Parts: sequence; structure tokens; C-alpha cells
Amino acid sequence: MANVENLTKLLEDAKKGRYAVGSFSARYTKLIQPIICAAMETKSPVIVQLSEKEVIRHKVGVKEFADAFYRVVKELNPQVPLALHLDHTKTLDVIKEALEAGFTSVMIDASEMDFADNVAVTKEVVEMAKRYHATVEAELGKIGTNDFVETDTDEELYTDPKEAKEFCQKTGVDCLAVSVGTAHGVYTVRRPKVDYVRLEEINTLTEVPLVLHGGSGVPSEMVVKAAQLPEGGVSKVNIATDLELAMLAVVGKEGHLTETELNAYDEETTVKFQKAVQLLVEDKIINYLQSANKA
Ligand SMILES: [Zn+2]
Repeated sequence: MANVENLTKLLEDAKKGRYAVGSFSARYTKLIQPIICAAMETKSPVIVQLSEKEVIRHKVGVKEFADAFYRVVKELNPQVPLALHLDHTKTLDVIKEALEAGFTSVMIDASEMDFADNVAVTKEVVEMAKRYHATVEAELGKIGTNDFVETDTDEELYTDPKEAKEFCQKTGVDCLAVSVGTAHGVYTVRRPKVDYVRLEEINTLTEVPLVLHGGSGVPSEMVVKAAQLPEGGVSKVNIATDLELAMLAVVGKEGHLTETELNAYDEETTVKFQKAVQLLVEDKIINYLQSANKA
């Protein structure tokens, strides 16, 4: 489809324009539509994403998710740049399945491995993705967690700028998730912080756009500052938990639902939670990512 693309131009434009593109976790196929509607409403580029853990937790298939995404795109015909991205994935078979299904970008998360193994696995995924004209995001350093939803461990290891340079040269990766103080999930005990000096150092030494994970709950001024750093800052910000929380507030549940459970709600409720998620995404685009009117 015409305006569904990989991350190359999306993130190049963001880097030059000193804003960030939101990579929003839909988690359920019913939440794809509000993300795209928000992008249309604000004239913003947007990335819709799904992770390997979400596939397992919400019992939604990779192919099913991609099909739903392309159905929504066909129906709405949005005139904004869009990408379909596979977030945190460790299993190469899942990455292959996503590429086959039409994901335009994938993340290989081999950050738990040592440097040499992370390089080797990432390189393999870069080769695989090339055949589909898809882009690849990798992670170097370890991003912390508040809720163990995206990762199993809570070891936090800031990305080393010199290692980042070597990693990008050796792997040919398209964008890099860095650990600079943010964490996955909702911030309760720990407070979000961003190591701007480290971000600048990484940006000076590498060419690729950088990705900030754990965007939910990080104060907007921190994200704005991170995106506007003179050397390019961060060009993609992942926002996951906030969308599901907006949906859960409408349906009056806590924790997580499955794809089937969410699909069981009637039309009236569905419209309500879709509207809530759309408003949340619009707010993030306008006040947080500064990507409105950049489409
Ligand atoms: Zn992440």
C-alpha cells in the first residue's frame, strides 16, 4: 500500500526536523484503528507496533495483526506515512513470520547476549529483512523495566557510545534502541530520567536514528528535549502501556485482556474505548512527540 513504508525516511525526516515519531503498541487489533485515526487527525507520521510478548500474552497472531492493519489502512486510506513494526522480538522465526505477513520493520532484541553475539544475531536479521525491504531496530545496553511486561529481567545497563559506534558499523542496523535512563511500563518506584549527555555522545558517534523505549509516563518536556538535541536526539519513541490503560479504564478492567476478550465487547463500548485511545495518541503526537503536521 502506497504510504505504508519502512522506517528509513520516516526517521530520517524526524531526525532532521528534530521531532520524534511515535511507535504505538496496539496490543489488540481493535486498537490499530484509533492509532491511525489519531495520525490522520493530527497529520502526523505514525508507527503501529506489536511485540513477541504481546503475541503470547494477548493471544493475537502476527499474521492476524498484519491483516487487520492493512484492512484498516485500506478502509481509511490515510494520507500520512505509516509503518508496521515488530517490537521486541528474540525469536528469528517470529521475525520471519512478521516479514512474510507484511511488517515493514522489525526489532531484534538480543540485548541480553554479549556484544559479539548481539552483533552476530542482529546482522543475520539485517540480511533477512533486506529481502523484504524492511528496516531493522536493535538494542544495545539494557533498558530497565517497571513491570516486567516487555522484558524478564530488570538489569539496567546504559548504552556505551563507543560500543554503539562499533555495533552500528558491524551490523548495518537501521535504528538503535538505547538505554539512557527510561524504563518499560508505568513508573511507580523509580523516576524516569534521560541522560542527555550520553544521548549526544551516541549521536555524535553513530549515523543511525536512535529509539527511546519506555515512553509511557515520561514527562513530555523530557521527551521534547531528547528529540531536539543538536546532534539529532531520539527520532522514535515507543509508547505502549498508556494505550492499554486508556482502553482498560473504559471497559472497567485491570491487567490485560486477550484479543478474543476485547473483540467480545459490543459496538457501543468498542467505539468508546477506541475514542479514548485515539485522544490519548493525539495528545502524545501533539504535546509529546511534536510530530503533528509533519506528515
Ligand atoms: Zn522497549
